[in-house]
Amino acid sequence: MLDHLPQYIDPLHLVEKRAVLKGQIPISDFDRLADILHSNAGSANVELAFSREGRLAVVTGRIEVTLALTCQNCLDAVSVVIDCAIKLAIVASIEQANNLPEAYEPLLFDGNENLLLKDIIEDEILLYLPIFPKHEHRCFCFTSNK
Ligand SMILES: [Zn+2]
Repeated sequence: MLDHLPQYIDPLHLVEKRAVLKGQIPISDFDRLADILHSNAGSANVELAFSREGRLAVVTGRIEVTLALTCQNCLDAVSVVIDCAIKLAIVASIEQANNLPEAYEPLLFDGNENLLLKDIIEDEILLYLPIFPKHEHRCFCFTSNK
């Protein structure tokens, strides 16, 4: 088992090796998240297992990260914990992706260019991101209705 994460991966090669990857990715590496972050301190804990389920090459695992987002009510920082299970099936085409069992999300890989691992993780985080992050307590005090 690797205790650090490679930058690029060949997912099919990792499936052949039945590899397990475990490590951390700094939140500051996620370019697409940058705009919505209040702070980019910290890192995401990532655990990925590559295997076969029947005819499918699959990647299962977990991402856990605490993001400091901007509260949409008071514009202050709000901590949002994302702890999500990953279940991806490696596909070579959109057509294959459309035929996947519902439990899997497609991971497109044409076998040529290795994939940037942080992009895969960032895609997953974006899926679970709240559309309207806000504090659980009432933090908005401009229009008080006491
Ligand atoms: Zn707030």
